[in-house]
Amino acid sequence: MTYMPNSGNLSSQRILNAQQMLAERNIDLAIITPGINYRYLTNQRAVALERLTALVITQSQYWLIVPELEFNQAREFHNEVEIISWRETDDPYSMVQARTPNSKVIALDEKMPFFHVEKFQKVFSAEFLSFSPISDAMRSKKSDKEIQELTRVSAAINAVHLSIPEINFTNRTELAVAKVIESMIREEHETVDFVIVASGPNSANPHHQPGERIIQGGDVVVIDIGGTSKSGYCSDCTRTYVVDNPDPEFVKDYEILSVAQNLGVSSAKVGITAESLDKQVRDHLIANDLGQWFVHRLGHGIGMETHEAPWLLAGNKNVLEEGNVFSIEPGFYIPGRWGARIEDIVALSGSKTLNFNDFDHSLRIVH
Ligand code: ZN
Ligand code: ZN
Repeated sequence: MTYMPNSGNLSSQRILNAQQMLAERNIDLAIITPGINYRYLTNQRAVALERLTALVITQSQYWLIVPELEFNQAREFHNEVEIISWRETDDPYSMVQARTPNSKVIALDEKMPFFHVEKFQKVFSAEFLSFSPISDAMRSKKSDKEIQELTRVSAAINAVHLSIPEINFTNRTELAVAKVIESMIREEHETVDFVIVASGPNSANPHHQPGERIIQGGDVVVIDIGGTSKSGYCSDCTRTYVVDNPDPEFVKDYEILSVAQNLGVSSAKVGITAESLDKQVRDHLIANDLGQWFVHRLGHGIGMETHEAPWLLAGNKNVLEEGNVFSIEPGFYIPGRWGARIEDIVALSGSKTLNFNDFDHSLRIVH
């Protein structure tokens, strides 16, 4: 495990909230290994290695367990919390068990590697469940500060889209264009998480990996890009481009998509269900004969991960809440022909719906 320099102290308020949710759910213990939840709860970025590092939370206490060789660094970052260290020949799983011997219901981080899970299952005779209902509930309600971070990182991806028309597309491969975009994203993000450049018939594949196809005049090019800021928040934005002159038939369908996407943004409100928002947008596409080509959910939450709760799709009857931040990204994908998608990130903040990617939605011309 490595401690990164840009961290702060444990987020004790978040841990208190987690403890309250453990109590409400009659969960005795939560064990969080390095990953996004660990960073969210500790303000500490730690890389998961095979040696056990974990944040252990009971209804009334919390502490860290770290390998002895990490102890001093951990102490430097977390001077206010108890830190247990273990030596190479100790069994850290038994040490956790010995400190919390009566735990009967244990929540594990949903992304904990199985080699840790297996060992906890050996030392505890308990019921194991996922920490995700608690982490989803917490992380999907963004604080004002998180909304600020997401606004900032979204502005960085907007700037990239606004500069894309300066790139030469004609006679270049998708990969070559993707490389230019990647370097543009890197300017204002710490990491580039994905660059989808899907041209011509490839635009009909929502998650196309840019390849050797040479882009030509008349091609539709779907560009979906995102990265993570230094503070750990993600951007994600799609615009659809066309090289030189668009096909009138495509333009007609694109206009329908644009109206549908706009409807999604303006209908996103506290109090409606996630599935009803998906349905409103989908119904508009169905009414205009594009519904059969809209093959994915309307959107996903975003924060410290690109994809997190809430999920906007049929069957999710959860009500959208204050602090939710999520994508509205309808598309249509006609195999062998073309596809299109428009994606913005919106936030339900106060009485307002903020659109972090509120710039030109029209079909964007490149050359
Ligand atoms: Zn997205
Ligand atoms: Zn996207």
